[in-house]
Amino acid sequence: MLVLSVLEEADKPLSALDIFSQIERSGDSVWLSTVYRILELFVKKGMVNKLTIMNNEMVVYELNRFQHKHYAVCISCHKIIPMDNCPMEKFFPMLEDDNFHVMGHNLEIYGCCKDCFPKKSGN
Ligand SMILES: [Zn+2]
Ligand SMILES: [Zn+2]
Repeated sequence: MLVLSVLEEADKPLSALDIFSQIERSGDSVWLSTVYRILELFVKKGMVNKLTIMNNEMVVYELNRFQHKHYAVCISCHKIIPMDNCPMEKFFPMLEDDNFHVMGHNLEIYGCCKDCFPKKSGN
């Protein structure tokens, strides 16, 4: 239940470690392995979405709010930025015909967030 409430309050996907440290910070004690086990259970039940990004380098979880959403990931600090629009939507009419019906898609967007960008250009 603690895991679920942390995810409920989050406005972006969290890693198991993020969830674990938030629970610890709120004064409850929990094992990291327990957090992983609970997350996998929620994923199986369809309550939580598991997202793998950066070629499986990062696994994050979010509450399944049954809405279509994409995230951009900063390759430097691994910050996850939710995107307001689906950039793929305008391509679907081009793909859709009698032979093919689009039902879903995955999209991974990498970049550099504003906190990391100035550092990279050297100062
Ligand atoms: Zn960054
Ligand atoms: Zn989309």
